[in-house]
Amino acid sequence: CAPVSLSSGDDNLKVIVRIRPLNSREREAGGHKCIQQSNERSLAVLTSEPQHYTFDAVAGEDADQTSIFQVAGQPIVENCLAGYNSCIFAYGHTGSGKTYTMLGPQTEGGHQSQMRGLTPRVFEHLFQKIAGLNEEPGDIKRTVRCKCSFLEIYNETLTDLLSPSDGQHLQIREDANHGIYVENLCEEAVGCMEDVSSLLVRGQAARKVGETAMNRESSRSHSVFTCTLECSSTDASGVTQILHSRLNLVDLAGSERQKASGAAGERLREASSINKSLSTLGHVIMSLVDMQRGAHRHVPYRDSRLTYLLQESLGGNSKTIMMANISPSSANLAETLSTLRFAQRAK
Ligand code: ADP
Ligand code: MG
Repeated sequence: CAPVSLSSGDDNLKVIVRIRPLNSREREAGGHKCIQQSNERSLAVLTSEPQHYTFDAVAGEDADQTSIFQVAGQPIVENCLAGYNSCIFAYGHTGSGKTYTMLGPQTEGGHQSQMRGLTPRVFEHLFQKIAGLNEEPGDIKRTVRCKCSFLEIYNETLTDLLSPSDGQHLQIREDANHGIYVENLCEEAVGCMEDVSSLLVRGQAARKVGETAMNRESSRSHSVFTCTLECSSTDASGVTQILHSRLNLVDLAGSERQKASGAAGERLREASSINKSLSTLGHVIMSLVDMQRGAHRHVPYRDSRLTYLLQESLGGNSKTIMMANISPSSANLAETLSTLRFAQRAK
């Protein structure tokens, strides 16, 4: 499999484009590939006039889940253990490979298989790192406590995927002690992979139930799996320092244009609110990129629930990785171009 590497540079936002393989349906339908990887950083869209795009990394269809973890997951774990907030987003149209990238194949046990995705691998690495923290000689004693939550944003409302039974919508609050937080969100302590796996299974199941009950598809909601870390280090004289950080793993709603024509009521509201969260995310990222270049910008975090929730994990010292997922098939060309443009604006 092909190694994937990230551009150097200490910018806090890295954009990685992942091209998934053509699937059997696309092959049977006679679809041909219209995307060609040029090198580790760029790709070409093969239209009559080929278009070239460059990113921090391009992962071709032969890039396996291990390489994706090494390039996108590992640095994020190190960053969180150093006390900084981090986000990994999966962006792309429905069927482009977001969930495959974040979790793995959606078969039973898929997130525990060889093909498991970023989320399980991130936690494996995190727990390994935590176990090794006190192996190095030295007088500093370190401990890390982790808590996880799992929520869904649909139609600009938040639902707790770990405690969904009461059907209550959660509110985002802010105060001087907690910063920005979700009121009454269930948070569970995790200490090993089994703990994380069981939360993932529970959350995915709750998502399915919600879809069936409300007759909608998961492609229309954003899911946010968050781990809060509390790293404390105590030196020989007994002085303790505590660092808090947050790791957010986000599987975004499908970026395809929601068909608002002919839609009414719930469907129309849904169409516009999905676009609102995604377009606000785009605006926030663009403002942050401009600010990194020295411009003064208002960052419109408050314009959507997603960006408000993630405000303290986007910008500042936080590290963000955008995984832009695309299909190589000519049948998806329009959606692919839209994803590439979104990803390009973030650079
Ligand atoms: P999305 O979450 O964006 O809607 P999925 O992750 O469900 O898309 O992927 C759609 C299909 O393509 C799934 O069957 C998935 O297993 C498969 N797939 C996606 N990416 C890859 C990949 N890199 N390699 C192999 N299969 C993939
Ligand atoms: Mg999905």
